[in-house]
Amino acid sequence: MDCDKSTSELRPERLTPRGLARRRILALGLGPIVACLGASCAAPRSAQIGLPVKNTIQSDQLLVVSDFKLPKDHPLIKDLKTLRRQVSEALELPLGSKQVTVYLFSDELQYAQYLQSRFPGYPPRRAYFIQTPGKELAVYTWWGDRIQEDLRHEFTHGLLHAGLEGVPLWLDEGLAEYFEVAGPKPGQVNIEHTQGLAIALQNGWRPNLDRLESLEKVEHMQRPDYRESWAWVHYMLHSSPDTRQVLLNYLQDLRTDARPGSLHARLQDATPDCEGRLLSYVAGVSSFGPWLAAQPGGAVQPVRAASY
Ligand SMILES: [Zn+2]
Repeated sequence: MDCDKSTSELRPERLTPRGLARRRILALGLGPIVACLGASCAAPRSAQIGLPVKNTIQSDQLLVVSDFKLPKDHPLIKDLKTLRRQVSEALELPLGSKQVTVYLFSDELQYAQYLQSRFPGYPPRRAYFIQTPGKELAVYTWWGDRIQEDLRHEFTHGLLHAGLEGVPLWLDEGLAEYFEVAGPKPGQVNIEHTQGLAIALQNGWRPNLDRLESLEKVEHMQRPDYRESWAWVHYMLHSSPDTRQVLLNYLQDLRTDARPGSLHARLQDATPDCEGRLLSYVAGVSSFGPWLAAQPGGAVQPVRAASY
């Protein structure tokens, strides 16, 4: 789930650990951040390792490019098609048309070498979503054992950026964390986050949405911030019709305004003491998380076809 789950916290999302990069991660590319990372900070250089080119799958907004054979009806592709519809329905956003390209490398080494060559300076992570100004919405990742989670997370970023003028960093990550969990419907409990929240609660943690809203750079988001962002999104979408409507209205505003102001202020107006409500909600979800996580889900075994 989250992009980073590991020890290293370089990530704002996803930094990672397994060897080189751990998980997916995210993206550098979010609105302003993308501009900085993609354009100024890391000017593209000639890549020694090229992008995958041999196999392409086009499905609605999704374009997957790999150097290994992947059938169009592969469960992971069907899962992403379903995810696109789920994001649209759950957030009441229209289905978009802007393409999100997923560059799916065969292994971690090729992926890492490409990223280092094309975007020098980026910390190692299992995946990146990079939106370059005026260019494509691109996901870079490799076929690892958490490919479904990584693809769902990054494709969610792509779908949001394809349809909205902007997405506050914390909300971008909170929604990606929310939708990355596979299952028959959105909103499955993220067991890693619920466990982390349970421990945090015992240690006196208190939510602070103002602080999350002040974070504008990926490198400023740490693992607990991803967890809290997930909690706020889950809380707003599931605790009551009022909280859900606050989030849906905010997302509608983001379709035409990249900076519609504070969501915390709106939430507080609709439901006073929203931090206290979130704490109660988190305590409940953390208690039932293990049970909920045991329910039938939609996990796909990452089996791919033979390489070229
Ligand atoms: Zn992310």
